[in-house]
Formats: sequence, C-alpha cells, structure tokens
Amino acid sequence: MIRSFSLPLARPLETARGTIDERRGFIFARNSGVGEATPLAGWTEPLDACETALEAADDADSWDDALAACQGSPAARNAVSLAKLDAEARNENVSLAHSLADDPAESVPVNATVGDGSVEATVAEARAAAERGFETVKVKVGARSVEADAERLRAVADETDAALRADANGAWTRKQAREAFDAFADLGVEYVEQPLPADDLAGHADLRGGPVGVALDESLTEHALADIFDAADCVVLKPMALGGVDRALDAAREARDAGVEPVVTTTVDAVVARTAAVHLAAAIPGVPACGLATADRLADDLAADPAPVEDGRIRVPEEPGHGVNLPEVNADA
Ligand SMILES: [Mg+2]
Repeated sequence: MIRSFSLPLARPLETARGTIDERRGFIFARNSGVGEATPLAGWTEPLDACETALEAADDADSWDDALAACQGSPAARNAVSLAKLDAEARNENVSLAHSLADDPAESVPVNATVGDGSVEATVAEARAAAERGFETVKVKVGARSVEADAERLRAVADETDAALRADANGAWTRKQAREAFDAFADLGVEYVEQPLPADDLAGHADLRGGPVGVALDESLTEHALADIFDAADCVVLKPMALGGVDRALDAAREARDAGVEPVVTTTVDAVVARTAAVHLAAAIPGVPACGLATADRLADDLAADPAPVEDGRIRVPEEPGHGVNLPEVNADA
C-alpha cells in the first residue's frame, strides 16, 4: 500500500536546489511493516521517480523483489527496507533498535541547529538551545565572512557551555576554509561540516590534522563512502539519502572500522523515517550527538511523535518495530 503526503514546514528550508516550504513523500506499507520515503532535491531521486519505484515495489511478490525495484532510488528504498525491518521487528516483538543491534542505547544525544544570523541572533538561539538541555550546538556558517563567522562562534563559546560544531554546506574556497580552521582553532569547535564543495576531497584531506575536525555530508552524494575516509574525521549519514537504515548502519560500521566517526541525521523527514533514524543511531555504540532534533522543522506531522527531544536527548521507543502508529495504515497493512 502506498499513501502520499504533504506536510507544511514550520519555516522555509534552504536546499541545494532552492527553497522549499513543504515536505512531500510517501508511506509504504506491506505485511505489518510501515516505511517512509520523503525525497529531497540534491540528496535523493525526485518525487515522481520515487513514486514509480514504490509502485513497482508494491506490485512485487517478495521483499527481495520489492527492494530490487528500488535500485537507484534511495528514498524509495528507505521506505521499503524500513517497512521490511519494521515488519520483522514487530513479528519478533522487539524494537527496531533491538533488531539492529544486540545492546542498543536507551537514548541518543542530539544537537541543536543554529541559523546563520547576526552575532546577537546566533547567541540568542544557542543560549535558548543550551537552556533546553542541548549539550551540542551546530552553527550554520559560510553565508558571512570568515571573520564574522569566527566572531559568532566566539560569542557562542563565551556565552554557553555547549560543545560547538559548524556547518558550511560547501560554501568556502580552500583559502577561506584554511582561514576559518585557523580562526576556529582556539574556540573548541569539534568539527566543521562540509567546509568545501562536495567533490573536493583533496582539499578536505588537507584541512585535517588540526584541532578542528572535518565532517563530510554533501560529499556522500558524489563519492562512495570508502573513497572519502582519507578526507574526513566524521561522516554525516542520512538514511533517506543512503537508501535505508540497513545501509546506513553498514556505512556506520565501515566508517568506524576506518577510524571515522559516524553521525546520523535526517533529511527533515516525517515521523516514521525520523524515528527510524533514532533507532539507527541507538544501534551505533557511543554515537556522537546526532542531527535528529528536526521534528520542529515541520508545522504538522503524520502521527504523534513517539521520540520527542528531552534535555538534548531522544529516548528510543521500546514498542515493537519503530514505534510509530499510523492507525489507518497499520490497519490496512
Ligand atoms: Mg550538513
């Protein structure tokens, strides 16, 4: 069964392909399992290609054939693989996290994201996040000069005890990135996400080795995971873009084996995919703070959130499967 949805965003979302004000996607249900495909331009296949793949998966006779129908369509595969994992976990009467790992965490730390506003706005947002219990704050950088961004980060470091990260979304030249890494060196910035354009692995490799780490995010859309390990201290894993929590868990283990830290984030998904990403994060031992506190980016959602943020952490639902209840869908599935 496939059901389409459209959810308004609480505020517009900047993507590599322009600004969007809604998230459109599909719920895919089969047997007792429910999954979600919410394509995002620049990261996954387009909406129409996703729907075509899901229709083929819906017609397939087996889970294997359904997954094969999603070849090349990561958002569709996220939905189908999640429905399969959810069905299996429900049958075994265990949570998704327990079906992914022997001893998953009971809760996972998450970061707050602070926009690219003025020094005053940046500090106000970071302070509000710290007061809500977030221990890690990720600040958007790259829209202003390196000097201005360094001033913003210095102000946050002075005004909060939160661990600091920055995300440049590939905005800098190599020269700007070097200046930024030098300027951030004494501010306790854990890492900068995607300082350089996605394809510049050599430039990222050159930035490593100092006190500020390099995290790669957009680079995963252009390169195989194994090819980016020399250029990264950390990789940002988005199940929707990688084709499912199963693939993302494999990627996390591959990264750890290569000495690279995995962080899990959503692509501003609805509650089913977002909650599945929480289970995934719980299956990665000692996972660093993850980008899973994205429910508030949506003005509406498909169902009640079984995994809200509390004190900078998300408690992993203990119900069988992913723990999201979509009453009419579960009845049909
Ligand atoms: Mg990023």
